[in-house]
Amino acid sequence: MVAPKPISLKALNYQRPETHRGYTDHFLDIDLSVPTIAIGTIDTKIKQTFIGGKGFDLWLLWQAVSGQTRWNDPQNAICIASGPMGGTPSFPGSGKSIVTAISPLTGSVIDSNVGGYFGPYLKFSGFDALRITGKSAGDTVIFIDGVAGKIEILSMTGLPSDAYALSDMLSQHFAADKKTGVSVVSSGPGAANTRIGCLNFSWYDNGRGRVRYKQAGRGGIGTVFADKGLKAVVARWEQVSLKTNRPADLEAVRAVAKRYAREIVELDPKQNEMARIGTTHLVPIMNDFDLLPTNNFQYGSHPAAALIGREAFEKLFDPGFDGCWKGCTVACAHGVRDFVPFTGAYKGCKVFVDGPEYETIAGCGSNLGIFDPFTILEMNFYCDTYGLDTISVGTAIAFAMECFERGLINRDHTGGMDLSFGNRLNALELVHQMAAGTGFGTIVGQGVRRMKAIFAERFGADPAMLKDIGMESKGLEFSEYMTKESLAQQGGYGLALKGPQHDEAWLIFLDMVHNFMPTFEQKAEALHWFPMVRTWFGLCGLCKLPWNDIVPEDNKATPEPAKVMKHVGWYADYYTAVTGNNATPEDLITMSETVYNYQRIFSLKMGYGTREHDTLPYRAVGPVTVEEYESRQERYDRQLTETHQVDIAGKDTPWKVAALRSRREARYETLKDAVYKRRGWTDRGIPTVATVKRLGIDFPDVLAVLAENGVT
Ligand code: SF4
Repeated sequence: MVAPKPISLKALNYQRPETHRGYTDHFLDIDLSVPTIAIGTIDTKIKQTFIGGKGFDLWLLWQAVSGQTRWNDPQNAICIASGPMGGTPSFPGSGKSIVTAISPLTGSVIDSNVGGYFGPYLKFSGFDALRITGKSAGDTVIFIDGVAGKIEILSMTGLPSDAYALSDMLSQHFAADKKTGVSVVSSGPGAANTRIGCLNFSWYDNGRGRVRYKQAGRGGIGTVFADKGLKAVVARWEQVSLKTNRPADLEAVRAVAKRYAREIVELDPKQNEMARIGTTHLVPIMNDFDLLPTNNFQYGSHPAAALIGREAFEKLFDPGFDGCWKGCTVACAHGVRDFVPFTGAYKGCKVFVDGPEYETIAGCGSNLGIFDPFTILEMNFYCDTYGLDTISVGTAIAFAMECFERGLINRDHTGGMDLSFGNRLNALELVHQMAAGTGFGTIVGQGVRRMKAIFAERFGADPAMLKDIGMESKGLEFSEYMTKESLAQQGGYGLALKGPQHDEAWLIFLDMVHNFMPTFEQKAEALHWFPMVRTWFGLCGLCKLPWNDIVPEDNKATPEPAKVMKHVGWYADYYTAVTGNNATPEDLITMSETVYNYQRIFSLKMGYGTREHDTLPYRAVGPVTVEEYESRQERYDRQLTETHQVDIAGKDTPWKVAALRSRREARYETLKDAVYKRRGWTDRGIPTVATVKRLGIDFPDVLAVLAENGVT
């Protein structure tokens, strides 16, 4: 198919700012309403404070919005940035972008981390960050041509609506004769018709001769993108080598990259085999440790889990190199060639499915009671091409299924559909309905928080039960880990700034599999350090997976094996070599603390970001129902008698459910107190003035937000 002829709405020829020590010191500012294209500068103070990536995004977004801005106001901005190390080939995981906006799900700041080539190409085209505000009237494409030094806002009516066809068409159209030189950001019809839209970031897979993509999934950023009338943002850049980022010390970058890449090549085959099976290795581990969400997070394992784990997907993945950035030796971004969907517009056609990753398998598989890898592949394919977040889709459908099975909703509400767990065809039908904006899919596509309100207000369902089993916090759907038995991961989800997404504090593995933090104090300390180190990757344009998914052979013998400090030291070396600013591992934590606290205060500015928003549905903390309790009766009885010194003799299960609940809820509140104190926050969860002064973010507008909330 040939792309429709573009009509130029606005164009700017520019002198490309050169990259120097990982930065271009410029950002691109586009307002679609007028439309205008402007180039802004980033000074040294801003660089030192916000570092890059998510830090730059938040700084730009804060200036664009007020506390009254809603997600669909023209003032809401989509900000995309790489980071100072973004775009380095051969250092594993150096091609990430971070996207931020005000979320249609949470009403507050959301951030999402994504692979593909866009962030690096944006930077090499001259921009450390991109901010898009305003709205366009028709189907609009922004083309950033770093090779020609030209930026255009184009009207392109008649483009395909789905991301699978669109990314391919636009890559062909804008690439001239070098398709590897183009990256397309796009969404899809699902994003326009729901609040759970994702963005697809593409790259051209030379080995397979096709366009691939990764998703910025969380928080409905794709929905904001579609609301702005955007069809795509395209960046074009051609030459990438270690020198393109113009690091301060090229030889030092070369040395640390070589060391790291070699270690991964040597150890990955002995550890998780991610270059062969991606993150599917997590399925059997989570199942074995009773952590694999099953039937809306009721249970943590299932006898059929092997059908959708590594054993299934190692046979289905297309062999070949699968790095989502040049030279990433982890190479975990696998896909399935020649998959033939059995529903929807692509029924009977051969397609390439990018994925699935663990979260999609658990969310669209076990959590729906579906143990068929082909259904999971089809859900994955359609969610991506429709621009829907697989995690929110999975968690929202799981909630609807449990409500259906418990009689909280019925066929009158679902349009006649049987939504029992395991009903794979109706789960797929809901995905198609979400994309089309029809039927019960329009309700599910609003996300769990709004489904709860609709089920209670319109369908008369019990609000207390909905509150307990609706797996959302702050308005965001849970990602796919069971937290009932892990206090650390309860904090990891409940205290995460944007909502329950594992990328901020993925402690479940360290807590439940390795038992690295057995005491309460260790958990609270972990909930300070781990979110900070994880935030740092998002400031720098880096992927977190190489840090602790493949660990040095002697890691276990180190004083703090959970932190993988040898790698943290290498990252400090890498940062120093690129930017020329000497950094220690402790400095990386301070960099993150600065941005982390700024983001917390940003949530406060938007009317959130206090203790009452750091809450969890009880399903995340303990067993809600008698069946859940009885599925782990021995464990729970022992906790009541031994840990809590409760006499349970002669008591029935509902009594024991209530007794455990009061103790677990109290324990979670105590954890909050400890973490707030460790982070330098008040007992309401607000950073103190001393904390913001220590971190150098005591800007007048930041202090004003604190003062409005009684912190002076
Ligand atoms: S580790 Fe996987 S997700 Fe991360 S950059 Fe490499 S290929 Fe992409």
